[in-house]
Amino acid sequence: MHELTMEQLWSTSQLAGGNVAYIEELFETYLRDPNEVPEEWRNYFDKLPRVDENSTVDTPHKPIRDQFLLISKNQRRAKPMMSAPVSSEHERKQMKVLQLINAYRGRGHQHAKLDPLALMTRETVPDLDLHFHGLTRSDLDTVFQTGNLFVGQDQATLKEIIDALETTYCGTVGAEYMHIVNTAEQRWFQQRLESVRSHPKYGEEIKMHLLERLTAAEGLEKYLGSRYPGVKRFGLEGGESLIPLMDELIQRSGTYGAKEIVIGMAHRGRLNTLINTLGKKTSDLFDEFDGKAEYESHGDVKYHQGFSSNVMTPGGEVHLALAFNPSHLEIVSPVVEGSVRARQDRRSDPVGEKVVPVSIHGDSAFAGQGVVMETFQMSQTRAYKTGGTVHIVINNQVGFTTSKREDTRSTEYCTDVAKMVEAPILHVNGDDPEAVLFVTQLAVDYRNEFRKDVVIDLVCYRRRGHNEADEPSGTQPLMYSKIKSHPTTRTLYAKRLVEEGVLTEDTSKQLEEEYRLALDNGLHVVKSLVKEPNKELFVDWSPYLGHEWTTKGDTKFDMKQLQELAHQLQEPPEGFAVQRQVGKILEDRRKMAAGALPINWGFAETMAYATLIKQGYGIRLTGQDVGRGTFSHRHAVLHNQKDASTHVPLQHIEEGQPKFDIYDSLLSEEAVLAFEYGYATTTPGTLVIWEAQFGDFANGAQVVFDQFISSGEHKWGRLCGLTMLLPHGYEGQGPEHSSARLERYLQLCAEHNVQICVPSTPAQVYHMLRRQMIRPLRKPMVVMSPKSLLRHKLATSTLEELAEGRFRTCLDEIDDINPKKVRRILLCSGKVYYDLLERRRAEEIDDIAIIRIEQIYPFPHNFLGKILEPYKGAKDIYWVQEEPMNMGAWYSSQHHMRKVAHDLNPKWHLEYAGRDHSASPAAGYMALHLEQQEKLIRDALDLQG
Ligand code: AMP
Repeated sequence: MHELTMEQLWSTSQLAGGNVAYIEELFETYLRDPNEVPEEWRNYFDKLPRVDENSTVDTPHKPIRDQFLLISKNQRRAKPMMSAPVSSEHERKQMKVLQLINAYRGRGHQHAKLDPLALMTRETVPDLDLHFHGLTRSDLDTVFQTGNLFVGQDQATLKEIIDALETTYCGTVGAEYMHIVNTAEQRWFQQRLESVRSHPKYGEEIKMHLLERLTAAEGLEKYLGSRYPGVKRFGLEGGESLIPLMDELIQRSGTYGAKEIVIGMAHRGRLNTLINTLGKKTSDLFDEFDGKAEYESHGDVKYHQGFSSNVMTPGGEVHLALAFNPSHLEIVSPVVEGSVRARQDRRSDPVGEKVVPVSIHGDSAFAGQGVVMETFQMSQTRAYKTGGTVHIVINNQVGFTTSKREDTRSTEYCTDVAKMVEAPILHVNGDDPEAVLFVTQLAVDYRNEFRKDVVIDLVCYRRRGHNEADEPSGTQPLMYSKIKSHPTTRTLYAKRLVEEGVLTEDTSKQLEEEYRLALDNGLHVVKSLVKEPNKELFVDWSPYLGHEWTTKGDTKFDMKQLQELAHQLQEPPEGFAVQRQVGKILEDRRKMAAGALPINWGFAETMAYATLIKQGYGIRLTGQDVGRGTFSHRHAVLHNQKDASTHVPLQHIEEGQPKFDIYDSLLSEEAVLAFEYGYATTTPGTLVIWEAQFGDFANGAQVVFDQFISSGEHKWGRLCGLTMLLPHGYEGQGPEHSSARLERYLQLCAEHNVQICVPSTPAQVYHMLRRQMIRPLRKPMVVMSPKSLLRHKLATSTLEELAEGRFRTCLDEIDDINPKKVRRILLCSGKVYYDLLERRRAEEIDDIAIIRIEQIYPFPHNFLGKILEPYKGAKDIYWVQEEPMNMGAWYSSQHHMRKVAHDLNPKWHLEYAGRDHSASPAAGYMALHLEQQEKLIRDALDLQG
């Protein structure tokens, strides 16, 4: 009646999903001695296909492994390999016990006591019930095999087994790791959790240290609360365990050899982290509260400020950097990753041993914001991996005023998004500081072992409202009535230590007193802080500080070397089969290098990189399809047609050269651009470029431009030489592939914050890119880069222009036009210049001059004035653009042009020639596009009809 067939056995989800390791072990035991495994397994293994005597014992192992791995991977039922009766009732129950054990491993966290307020609604998990598995209370005293649940003990009573499982998986730690496909990782967690039942016994010293850190966390908030009542500080109260958590994370990472840790976090708990983790001087914080802080620029509120310091760990001095962060909650995560990768590259640390990223999140934002997913997706890619990030969710179970699960997310936990990369998730009750310590140790050890992301879900609460001026009980009445009577984490832990005899009430009070005194004295309160930090741990930015945008830089490059380099780059290794069209490009470039062909865009751009590398600058270029270039002009990565191997000529210029990194990015804009911002703000010696597939795709990363690139220097004093190449040009490709939305960038231009360039010749792009590195200035640069101009017969340059020239912010007339005869001046930028030029030549017009503005911001008033001077007698002056009137440069830049025009000739009134206002950036119909283009060219060139 109770017979369990092997078919049933195989189809049991818990066995199939998670017990691969266990069954493999059973099988290995069986291979050594069949009598050592239970009878039904022996029967099963006996019937597996056998191989001949000479074969290795591994061979029959394979079907087992394959069968189980298949099931565990696909989470589907495997076909039974065979059926076999299970004879005894005990053996049947043994199977059930194994299922139960496995159920706890997979789903025990759903019954864990994670919520300090005990308000979290937890579903009953049937799999964790004895009866679900056909077991009853009468089996509790029966002895069963335990698998590897007990160290050095293969048997235990069912009661002992359940007790062990409850403590391990359903206490204050809820570990999710069974979704990880990698067996070694699963086993690792199983072993680490089960060997100590998720609650290691810590010594008195550690306990006292935990209490000291909690005292600091609580003490600061209390102090600020009474000294600055009602002032916004986004206190950590309710989540104080973050401070001991950070302490352990830093110290343990240091032990593993980390030299730098970069931390990203939003506002909640930031002041506490600044003071109690990074060691910011308390008097500096009080000055900010008192409004006495000195500021050089516009600055930012105190709970967005970053900070850097060095602390001592058992592994030596570690540099800490807390990234500046705008109010946009999750966007700092990819910025931190970029900064970390830059530091790892600087230290030649490809595995991520020496620099550790730490991302601190809020629960609602972690579940809600897409950039979290994008950042996870980057975590193991070639271009963006950083050896695993330690994610900490300060899960106070409420986002501003929204706390119902059915409103904040569609998943059980706010952390479920992390499962997309199979990151282990360690939920922990924030009111159990020792459990918090334990999961922190696990997380750091896991990262160190497997170099992957790991999540700590610090389940806590928010003692006050969203900020200190906010009343929370209006929207969360039950939660806040509970919080009111809930003792603080420190109070609870101090009580526990008193009960354990580790602490006396007096010592407890004394600790609080000491901390308050330190604050009164305005001192640093981090004991491990290094007062004389080792400056070699970070980059010296002083050479880049304080330069005006007009600072000169010599971008010339010796002609002979330039040609040698150019020839060298066109030679793939012996036997490397390049594709036919690519071969033609290399052939053309050889001719360009010899001066036999005019230089095109791809050649000039490549030479900008090559010459910069020669001069000691690194290059990092990422974006969608950058290896080839969206429009096939770059071909910086060659693909062997025989074996698909790749060759990057710019990586083989000379021994010991700086890095030339080029990676096709994942199909993200927001996280990728934020990453590159982080990289560029950390590495002044590398030209960091992000290229959009089409310019308008950057709108998916608008927050990065708004909150970081355009304003980071003025808010936070962080320089950034990031370059964005945004393909732009009206060529009839429709609303989404024509405009890089120049107007968006121009709208945010002020105080010389960004450079906006529209280079129109290969020599211009060459000198523009070189200028970006060679000038000591580090300013973001947005480039409207071309599409059809990449191959335009008129958009060419000469070798001499590369060797001798410089970037010109405006370009004068190139045709033989007599300035005295000119009646109209056309000002323009980009591709429309060539349309105007060709038409003017075709119509043989000789009284209209066309002047290009190649840098629209900072606006080159002086230079444009000089160029226009000879044309002063012209009757009128026009700005010509392809974009609709409400877009492009017209509205944002006309006041600059008007000023120059007015200074030269007060009678001039700048006119407009371009498309009409339009809600959509470009026409979708080719015929309409052509009609509009024709009209604007005619208007500009004063052609009738
Ligand atoms: P970090 O390694 O990020 O902690 O930076 C160390 C120090 O370098 C900071 O305290 C700043 O003084 C300086 N620094 C870092 N990044 C920048 C930047 N992007 N612009 C200007 N100064 C910087």
